[in-house]
Amino acid sequence: MKNQKKISFPSNLHGHTTYCDGKNRAEEYILAAIEKNFVSVGLSGHSYVYFDKEPNMSLEGTLKYIEELKILKEKYKDKIQVYIGIEADFYSGFNPKLDKNLGLDYRIGSVHYVKDKVKDKYYCVDNTPEILAYAIENYDNDDEKSLICAYYDNIIEMIHTQKPDILGHLDLVRKFNGDGKYFDENSEWYNKKVDEVLGEISKTDIIVEINTGGISRGWTKTPYPSAFILKKILSKNIPITLSSDAHSVENIDYYFKESVELVKEIGFKSLKIMKNGKFEDFEI
Ligand SMILES: [Zn+2]
Ligand SMILES: [Zn+2]
Repeated sequence: MKNQKKISFPSNLHGHTTYCDGKNRAEEYILAAIEKNFVSVGLSGHSYVYFDKEPNMSLEGTLKYIEELKILKEKYKDKIQVYIGIEADFYSGFNPKLDKNLGLDYRIGSVHYVKDKVKDKYYCVDNTPEILAYAIENYDNDDEKSLICAYYDNIIEMIHTQKPDILGHLDLVRKFNGDGKYFDENSEWYNKKVDEVLGEISKTDIIVEINTGGISRGWTKTPYPSAFILKKILSKNIPITLSSDAHSVENIDYYFKESVELVKEIGFKSLKIMKNGKFEDFEI
């Protein structure tokens, strides 16, 4: 590992290909990762959900995506460790048995939607500010607290029933929030809800992802989750990893250097990295 001294974090497990809403093919990500001298690289296509076809993989596409990655994993095995992942939305209902049957190496569990309480309708929290505003207005009498808490309740249910390896972008609901446009991150109810989620995470061995995707797409100034949440994560001894949620190869290590500095400042000593088929500590 002599020549890896300059790399802040030599891996990215969160990337999207043309099978979903990404701009590049899996092989292009692998070549970029080799170029960067990464130890490992994984792709994580958006899982199929029946109610939102556009950003997600189709069912046939999912199988093709996995088959393609199996071939690429073998093709590049002497150059880099390639891992087959998926970003499974809560409403795709994944579980460890399905991961195994599909041949996945890991699964990122993410919540992107909240289902209406009555109707067969799903509100997306990270598509556009207008859609988020619509969701808040329609979910429960224009009460932002209800929608945001329902988002976090989905996370709690997902970690216990679906058992992902990594929890994706924990506070994604912050994407369009700017300086508190839709809800107050300093409010007591929000902090209480975050504490509840972290309490549940700490009962599992799930790794929380530091995700720079909101910054690369120009929506947030800091990675998910917010620094105050990262402090709570540290105090609870919850493991973390770093990923860029890349939708194009240029962003494969977007804001990695700054993010490593940020978590170091908060007090973290290591990040989890996938190596030799399992998660290990990478000292920072
Ligand atoms: Zn996501
Ligand atoms: Zn993603």
